Amino acid sequence: MRKISANYIFPISGAPLKNGIIVLDSNNVITDIIDTGGNLKEIANLEYYNGILIPGFVNSHCHIELSHLKGKFQEKTGLPNFISQVNSQRKAELNVIYEEIQNSHDEMIRNGIVAVGDICNTSDSFIIKTSEEISYHSFIEIFGLEAKKAKKIIQNGEILLQQISKQFPHPHSLIPHAPYSVSPELFTQLSHFFQSSIVSIHNQESKAEKEMFNSGKGALYNFLSKFVDLSKWNPEHNNSLQYSLNYLQNSKQILLVHNTFTGPEDLKIADPFLSKIYWVLCPNANMYIENQLPDIKLLQEHKLNIALGTDSLASNSSLSILEEIKTISSHFPDIKLEELIKWGTLNGAKALNFSNQYGSLEVGKKPGINLISMLDLENMKINSESVVKKLA
Ligand SMILES: [Zn+2]
Repeated sequence: MRKISANYIFPISGAPLKNGIIVLDSNNVITDIIDTGGNLKEIANLEYYNGILIPGFVNSHCHIELSHLKGKFQEKTGLPNFISQVNSQRKAELNVIYEEIQNSHDEMIRNGIVAVGDICNTSDSFIIKTSEEISYHSFIEIFGLEAKKAKKIIQNGEILLQQISKQFPHPHSLIPHAPYSVSPELFTQLSHFFQSSIVSIHNQESKAEKEMFNSGKGALYNFLSKFVDLSKWNPEHNNSLQYSLNYLQNSKQILLVHNTFTGPEDLKIADPFLSKIYWVLCPNANMYIENQLPDIKLLQEHKLNIALGTDSLASNSSLSILEEIKTISSHFPDIKLEELIKWGTLNGAKALNFSNQYGSLEVGKKPGINLISMLDLENMKINSESVVKKLA
């Protein structure tokens, strides 16, 4: 049994407790949360830390299989250029790919991440997914704009699904990449897989995506036209989010990832589905690729379910939810730390259906315990110096 305390504990399911105590059994399951009322007395074998204690972080969006692309791309050159660089450089020796996946997995453990929603275009990362230290949900992601190839693309996705079920059992679902890369035919066939499953899709990551749907032109349209004949491009909807939601509405939960260019008019479109939508923000990747952050204030003011992700090392220098929180905190200093931590813990756990175990400090859960230190406790603000240490 361990008893752990710090200046504050953030249960997330309730208000912060000054000098609260977390009691863990030998399996790191919480057996008690003690509110000391701020008066910590001498308690035998109490571990006391300077800082705040929070649940393990949840990374709601990652592509661990792209880890070998770290530092390879030019920054801030926009989404079409980024996709083009991924396509031309993602091939590598399998042993290099495996080694970098293992390194990323270890990095996430060190950074206090306990659960990950991970995008897979291949089976490269499956072997790591049965790890006991991180719970993964694998999103098998497919795409294709050519109607006649839809059936074949679905079949390839199903092969990967079967491989998980048989060889590497862990939670998974078949998902579309993005509205601009999935034809109506593919979306229609894919939608049969959405019933009662968790779906993740890249949403409004670039201005060019809006332009492609709105006016049928722009940088993304020009880029995609190099690979497929888009001369008859005539989307059913002039808004990419509307196009996606048209097919996604039967799914259990919808993770909309990035939302960099989501505006008030998009929130109206999403309104009928808000209870099952999670708005996953990856601020460091947005800065890396588009040099632009989402209108986080807008999403926050509408009390939306916001979760956080790191995206991949192809567009980020680290896989750390704390680093994502730092970026948001520095650009939106009036968003409370407690709320930011909720986005990076409980909301992510709910988005991925892992909240029975993760996301909050509650009796019966085994959420992982992180210490955040080197922060401004008086104003309850983190800064660039703040660090995370995994305690359990
Ligand atoms: Zn992504």
